[in-house]
Amino acid sequence: MEFPSKLLEKAVDEMSQLPGVGKRTALRLMLHLLKQNPDRTTHLAEALMKMRHDIKFCKSCFTISDIDMCDICSNNHRDHQTICVVEDVRDVMALENTQLYKGVYHVLGGKISPMDGIGPSQLNITSLVEKVKAGNVKEIIFALSSTMEGDTTNFYIFKQIKDCNIITSTIARGIAVGDELEYADEVTLGRSLMYRVPFENAFKNV
Ligand SMILES: [Zn+2]
Repeated sequence: MEFPSKLLEKAVDEMSQLPGVGKRTALRLMLHLLKQNPDRTTHLAEALMKMRHDIKFCKSCFTISDIDMCDICSNNHRDHQTICVVEDVRDVMALENTQLYKGVYHVLGGKISPMDGIGPSQLNITSLVEKVKAGNVKEIIFALSSTMEGDTTNFYIFKQIKDCNIITSTIARGIAVGDELEYADEVTLGRSLMYRVPFENAFKNV
């Protein structure tokens, strides 16, 4: 791509480093900014800089937060003995949106993935095991994605806490709400059958 301006080229180059943003999209965004009031760009740049410099990770659950201890961890009405283990902050947001979970979270920051060079030491696993071993945890709920990496991570953590006399559970895996049975893949359908629930429980929180 030939640019008539080095400044425009540099801005497009930087923007296109972001996931899902190709050079054409980056160029469209930059040309859009150039049509707007310069304040628009200043506000965008300031918001990005402030987010990058000032954002914190909760010292208890490692979710993204503006304060040392996030709102969930500092809420006395939450059940601090139930910990839901998730991969990143997007999972916390998704589970919070259900408004059904009253426990706290532990954000691992990823999944064990030897293919991508991510080992257990790069994730927030030790602190989770320490929390369990400290004796104030009643239940651990694994809510990682249903992939080989998710299962490997669940199992790695489970091995370290299995003798701690706590309940360990994993979120149910099965047919999505509104899905037709005939279109489900056989692994999902098989799991739905294996992990079936009593009828009266199936509609409890609907
Ligand atoms: Zn927290």
